[in-house]
Amino acid sequence: MILDTRTLVIVLVGIGVLLSIAAFLAWKAHRHITALAYWAGGALAGAAGMALVMLYGVWPPALVIPLSNALVAATYLLNWFGVRSFAGRPIPWRSGLALLAALTAGNAWFVVMSNDVTARILVGSAGITGLSLLAALELWRMGPADQPRRAQRVTALVFLIHALFVAGRAVLTAWGGPVDSVLMPNLVQSAGFLEAILAVTGWGFGFLAMTSERLQADLDRIGTIDPLTGAYNRRAFMKHAERELARSQRSGAPLTLLLLDLDRFKRVNDTFGHLAGDALLRLFSETVTARLRRTDLFGRYGGEEFCVLLPDTDRTGAAALAEALRRDVSARPLAFQGQEIAASVSIGIAACRSGEDLDTALAAADLALYRAKRNGRNQVVIAEAAG
Ligand code: GH3
Ligand code: MG
Ligand code: MG
Repeated sequence: MILDTRTLVIVLVGIGVLLSIAAFLAWKAHRHITALAYWAGGALAGAAGMALVMLYGVWPPALVIPLSNALVAATYLLNWFGVRSFAGRPIPWRSGLALLAALTAGNAWFVVMSNDVTARILVGSAGITGLSLLAALELWRMGPADQPRRAQRVTALVFLIHALFVAGRAVLTAWGGPVDSVLMPNLVQSAGFLEAILAVTGWGFGFLAMTSERLQADLDRIGTIDPLTGAYNRRAFMKHAERELARSQRSGAPLTLLLLDLDRFKRVNDTFGHLAGDALLRLFSETVTARLRRTDLFGRYGGEEFCVLLPDTDRTGAAALAEALRRDVSARPLAFQGQEIAASVSIGIAACRSGEDLDTALAAADLALYRAKRNGRNQVVIAEAAG
């Protein structure tokens, strides 16, 4: 069965326009995801390029053929740029535009100097294959690993399969003898357009799924991270801590909790203002985070009170870390509007013992913290082990 190529081109134009509208509206709603603007532009360029294919034989070939090919190549370039932008990487405008110019010049050569449809298909397919592979590679590698990237990986596969298909189609075209138009109703050409319809639909869904995955990850972050300090908020800290506690009780590995409270913090606010207090909280979080391992949990318990949960760490190890943190904090005053604001922290330590819940450990650490305050602040106190 050979499908009518003109019908397939019309369907492709329609899908391109719809995808462009969908990506544009998504971009209007989420301006910070610039990738959507690239993808909207790419889909529109592709639709325009394919619409011009309908004018082959109507408009002068030296105008319409290079123009429609340039627009189709621009689709792939903008798709790739969008993927780069989504990954937060710089956009290679200069080399991208040079490639576009080279592809267009190559196409024009095989219109004006010799009317060679096969050569034009080879030039165009080389560009499409190369740019699709770049997009696939970028999508596959895109990190970071701790964020969801299923949609990215599926979209990468769409581009990879498309690249293979386009390359295969080019080879078959070259092999199959001279072609006098891309609209010629033969099996290779109509299969090519059909695959293009599936590919555009595939990456269109892929881009929108990536966007929704990113927005969901943003929401999750807003719900779990304290915006001032970047530490877990209390709810997220408790959730993760419960999981760590269960793990430590299964494995028998030690687990230790630190409760940290900045000393005389109210005085900083009262003397230098709340902005200084906020800056000090940020500096404090940086100082603490710098010493923690990836597996340690750091949360803002409330106000100027923070928690650290240390998996696989006993009271001795925790005490050494707490002492190092205490020293770091007092050695790093805040530079604020030309002044130096000194800070110090008091820390209470409690081991999470098997059979106990988190609240018990928190209460024990709080008691130790209270003793550190009463003994003069800027010190570490370990809760007594149960007898
Ligand atoms: P102590 O050494 O006994 O801990 O004294 P303190 O002044 O640190 O303790 P207190 O609990 O009396 O004061 C805590 C202050 O922290 C009161 C509150 O205004 C301030 N605070 C809580 N959250 C924030 C915040 O997000 N930003 C700022 N700037 N201040 C905060
Ligand atoms: Mg305090
Ligand atoms: Mg306090």
